Amino acid sequence: MVKALENLYSIDHSEAGDHSLETWVLDCKEGVVLIDGGMRETAVENIGKELKSIGKGWGDVKLILVTHKHGDHVKNLPRLVELTGAPVKAEEHEAPLIEAAVGVKVGKLKHGQVLSFCGGVEVIHVPGHSEGNACYYLRKLKALIAGDTIFGDPQGALTPPPERYCLDVKQATKEIRRLLDYDFDYMLITHGKDIMGDAKERVEKLVEMHC
Ligand SMILES: [Zn+2]
Repeated sequence: MVKALENLYSIDHSEAGDHSLETWVLDCKEGVVLIDGGMRETAVENIGKELKSIGKGWGDVKLILVTHKHGDHVKNLPRLVELTGAPVKAEEHEAPLIEAAVGVKVGKLKHGQVLSFCGGVEVIHVPGHSEGNACYYLRKLKALIAGDTIFGDPQGALTPPPERYCLDVKQATKEIRRLLDYDFDYMLITHGKDIMGDAKERVEKLVEMHC
């Protein structure tokens, strides 16, 4: 597990030939939060092992947040709910779609809602990649968990999500602008290299070029 920032860890589930694929772990005084759950059984094993490495267990997980409904982010939810007993939450447009896809109860979050973990986790609705695609803004860390809202190529350049993965690529591209309303230095993305400094400037450049 990679420690991205204080209290924030990234677990890479990718296997040979994959896009990168992560679960993020927020280790807060209020409890552990998992963000996205991967798709293979090995990802569940990874999460269990990595929690142990920071002295935590499944019972310490108090919340599972999901960025969006795509299989590589949600397939493990039933198993993770079984192991942790934690509630699963996603943006309100996405929650019913995830429920329908994997059969677990998913609570609804509103754009702008702030969850009281690790100094505040704010929900940002960025539609287009999917109906209720969300980013999570970690206020205290000035970090953005962007999921699939932005992709990175192997050289580290940022791009809008590719059309073949989007519900509406025009909307997905245009709505990236919303992220510029937030003050962030770091940005963690699912498919690509994380941006560990000056992330907002990188997103400003991306918006200038594409949006
Ligand atoms: Zn996706």
